[in-house]
Amino acid sequence: MTEAWPALPDGSRLALREILIHGVLSRAEIARSLGLSRASLTRAMRILVAHRLVVEVGTDVRGATGRPSELLQASTGVWEFLGVKLTKDRLYAAVTDLGGRVLALHEESIAATAPESLADQISAVTDRLRKAHPALCAVGVSLPGDVLSRAGESIVAASPFLGWRDVPFAGMVLERTGLATFTVNDVHALTAKEHWFGAGAGRDSMVLVTVGEGIGLGLIANGQVSTGEHGRLGRIGHLPVLGGGPDCGVGHSGCASSYLPSPVIVRNAGHEGSSYEQVVELARNGDAGALAAFEDAGRALGAVLATAAHIADPSAIVLTGDGLPVYDLARSTVDESLRAALAPYTEPVTVQVQPFEFSEWARAGAVFAIRRLLGE
Ligand SMILES: [Zn+2]
Repeated sequence: MTEAWPALPDGSRLALREILIHGVLSRAEIARSLGLSRASLTRAMRILVAHRLVVEVGTDVRGATGRPSELLQASTGVWEFLGVKLTKDRLYAAVTDLGGRVLALHEESIAATAPESLADQISAVTDRLRKAHPALCAVGVSLPGDVLSRAGESIVAASPFLGWRDVPFAGMVLERTGLATFTVNDVHALTAKEHWFGAGAGRDSMVLVTVGEGIGLGLIANGQVSTGEHGRLGRIGHLPVLGGGPDCGVGHSGCASSYLPSPVIVRNAGHEGSSYEQVVELARNGDAGALAAFEDAGRALGAVLATAAHIADPSAIVLTGDGLPVYDLARSTVDESLRAALAPYTEPVTVQVQPFEFSEWARAGAVFAIRRLLGE
């Protein structure tokens, strides 16, 4: 029987958040960063230990006072989370512990994209994973689409990929699994994950840019994931970047989608019918068409990064996704284009490259569920 996530008082909730983001913290460090008195800290931690959310893992004797301070980290095996990433033809699932570590992965093809059918399929995947992971307590479903809250209910307002409009999908999955369920735009979920458990850990502001089949952007401002008024924040796929280039397919010439998506690089390279990986290989071997396509993609990426920096003024831009070979193959072009687009300003922008596995999309769903349970 799954235990339901407990309602936590603010002190406990914030202490747990600090522990999750930092991995391991001493009581003294938690008290200092939250400004808690000794008595408040004791009360906050007692609740977390009672719910088996955190465990003691030794003692820190380096503290400023010289007094030993117990070290705490998230428990394992007591609270587990299911993340699901939906694409138009496949479902990816990841089970994580409270610290966001992946315990199991699963993927299968999607039978049909109708909401009822997908809710049934997620319910079946949950049943299957629950056999080995009975501690599953919540589900986070990340999908390409606009997710927003309407009258307290999470709604997928639109997902052209899945053919959905106004679908209360979280409620449908909850109904079938009995588990607290959250839906989230996939790029916003990835941003949330990187912010707590990745390149952005501990930052108050951050922009995430994903490159791959598509281009996405997520924003952390004031320590929170921003989603925009309609759940559409970061829809930069058709940002004008170079001008005068090939038509992206919807009438823009020279937008980000004219150069940067992986299938477009394949086409611009003149190797239609090849896979993206093959075109990467061709570029590495000096194929002129492939190199030119990556250079153009690099110029577009530099302009996208500069726009992100101008709008958000983040402490770092985290760059990730299947399309990272663009940065690898056209690094100096990206940097040059970024510098040119930032002019006349000369302050440097920190770009952090985060290696990527596709399973990270599913893991991000689980991390989003953890954040939501913690009121983030
Ligand atoms: Zn366009």
